Amino acid sequence: MTRRVRIRVTGTVQGVGFRPFVYREALDLGLAGFVINDERGVLAEVEGDPTDVGELVRRIESEAPPLSEVESVVAEAVEPKGETGFRIAESRSGGAADALVSADMATCEACLAELRDPADRRHRYPFINCTDCGPRFTIVRGVPYDRPLTTMADFEMCAECQAEYSDPLDRRFHAQPNACSVCGPQARLIRPGGAEVDGDGDAIARAVSMLADGAVVAVKGIGGYHLACDAGDERAVGALRARKRREEKPFALMAPDLEAARGLVELSAAEEELLEGRERPIVIARRREGAPVAPSVAPLSRDLGVMLPYAPLQHVLLADAGRPLVMTSANLSDEPIAYADDEARHRLGPIADAFLAHDRPIHMRTDDSVVRAVHGRPPIVLRRSRGYVPRSIPLPLDTPPVLGCGAELKSVFSVAKGRRAWPGHHIGDLKNWETLESFREGIEHFERLFEVDPQVIAHDLHPDYLSTRYALERAEADVRIELVGVQHHHAHLAACLAEHGEMGEALGLIFDGTGYGEDGSAWGGELLAGNVASSERAGMLMPVRLPGGDRAVKEPWRMAASWLSHALGDELPPIPRTLADDVDASDWEAVCGIVQTGAGSPVTTSAGRLFDAVAALCGLRPRVSYEGQAAAELEGAADPRERGAYEVAVEGGGKAPLVLDPREAIQALLHDIERGEAVAYVAARFHNGLAAAAAAAAGRACEERDLDLVVCSGGVFQNRLLAERTLEALEAVGLRTLMPVALPPNDGGIAYGQVAAAAARIARS
Ligand code: ZN
Ligand code: ZN
Ligand code: FE
Repeated sequence: MTRRVRIRVTGTVQGVGFRPFVYREALDLGLAGFVINDERGVLAEVEGDPTDVGELVRRIESEAPPLSEVESVVAEAVEPKGETGFRIAESRSGGAADALVSADMATCEACLAELRDPADRRHRYPFINCTDCGPRFTIVRGVPYDRPLTTMADFEMCAECQAEYSDPLDRRFHAQPNACSVCGPQARLIRPGGAEVDGDGDAIARAVSMLADGAVVAVKGIGGYHLACDAGDERAVGALRARKRREEKPFALMAPDLEAARGLVELSAAEEELLEGRERPIVIARRREGAPVAPSVAPLSRDLGVMLPYAPLQHVLLADAGRPLVMTSANLSDEPIAYADDEARHRLGPIADAFLAHDRPIHMRTDDSVVRAVHGRPPIVLRRSRGYVPRSIPLPLDTPPVLGCGAELKSVFSVAKGRRAWPGHHIGDLKNWETLESFREGIEHFERLFEVDPQVIAHDLHPDYLSTRYALERAEADVRIELVGVQHHHAHLAACLAEHGEMGEALGLIFDGTGYGEDGSAWGGELLAGNVASSERAGMLMPVRLPGGDRAVKEPWRMAASWLSHALGDELPPIPRTLADDVDASDWEAVCGIVQTGAGSPVTTSAGRLFDAVAALCGLRPRVSYEGQAAAELEGAADPRERGAYEVAVEGGGKAPLVLDPREAIQALLHDIERGEAVAYVAARFHNGLAAAAAAAAGRACEERDLDLVVCSGGVFQNRLLAERTLEALEAVGLRTLMPVALPPNDGGIAYGQVAAAAARIARS
């Protein structure tokens, strides 16, 4: 008896070795038929013994190649044709837009084994890859995903590589970046001036000996350049920090292997899994006591950001070095990561002693992704970029082609059509010409790659964001385009609901830096009741003055003065002991005066600014170099074992909006600080009090509106302690909770939320 079935596979199944996989399995089972790529994914027809046919379907469902993402496998019986032999047929058309490009993936085990094998022809070859691993998104210039449209176009394969590429049974069948040391890209070690660094061994060996001598080496990776130095050498790390200028952000580390990573940070099973995952993000984890890391790597931070090598060049480099290296993205302050060779040499020349470069161009710059595990829950993605992008995220409803422009800090755009959105890579702070350029280029690239010709452009309500201006420009140039403004915190709520496929009503607890509110003021501690399409303000953090507007973001002591002034009422608060050394008494008085009269200072409900104020009161950070720094350090300082709390009042309700009023908590914590209580204790009690009040307010809002679902999002929920405490409290009273999983809770998730909200409004109208 013979059976024939037609198998339809959808998802990310093209350019990932799916057809050869089906081919090999079919041969193995002695089945006849064919496999083909078409516009919907992969289609196969197989015939043979019914048991073997069933087995093939099972293998397709459960043993698909690592880079593929199978969404569905549907098999239907068709009439047997008496076919013999199995073939891979030519593609029928361009292929489905979603199936075209996968993310860049870490070197696979099979390639690593060859890389380390002195007898292999790719021993130490820094660009080894196969169908299961290697660069994808960062080298793609256009579609279809074929070598001529990648940055490998100029490298002609040698006979041996070509043979692998053409053999359906080979691991490198149609692996577009396939190469070897004879025909492929080469690494070089050069001085900033362009001269080759001479010495023994290959370029990587010479780079390692420079690193051992304390040098800073710019290393070209998958999505851009890193600046590397010996993580244990304070002189080298200090020099790097000094040369990078005004940079206080912790440096990420790359460890040679998991064992070495364990020596740097305390790792849970979940964190180890993240570290070794094929996306290879930077994992933020608790620093191990006595970790062999120079003080300048992450001053004042209890955590370290660690990753494992993901490109073969990094594998060889780290194995040779035999110790962790600083691997920080090679940019100056807020500029995008450097990726083009000339530009990198120009921009990084003053910082790096040498460049470990190569001649495979990077088409799309892509920063490392950053994640953080949360106890007993899915990890929080802080930055979704290399390894994840351009993977699509489903939408819970159909949308016409739409572009979401995102916000301003941590800028990310998103295109979407049908039931699918493609959030872009992390662009950085959209505040200067360089970032705006990469924002524009990225959008053009995605629109081409995924064939999205936007009829709708969704944007933030802030009139001064460059992303908003970009949206307006596009609409002006093209009358077909409809603009949809989406309030910032609503976009946070919509993003989380849409990602989880929730089309019902929910209460959003959105704790954020600042975003433009519907009334034009700076919102950022919001209770929003609504759904993906729209929401209304059900409550908020008590509004306070933001003395000096944007200056208050850079100078948290101003927020301390503001909150203290509000807490103490009519009295002019004396300067706290913890700030006396860092803030001029006359400045303090002037700011307190501004708060009292309200002259020239807007009001804000920002939860992020409240954290800033408390961090400043604790003496952690009177001034910061980037948004959120003080809050992150306050979390780092908090003792997670402390369960006491400063009580935050919840007022209003019924007809009036709910208001979280932390004035008494501010007074109590000031009292403890002045008494000399430990910051660990004070910081923890502040977290606990705010989490309890937020959960209580959300609970009340849910009761009044008959809701049972609470979304926690916004940049402040990157704070693991706050998130854990708040979710615990919400769940204790029987509420369902959601947090973003695929996307960051910070503004990196906004564009997807804008797209979802626009789609829902269009569907409604
Ligand atoms: Zn491989
Ligand atoms: Zn070759
Ligand atoms: Fe935000």
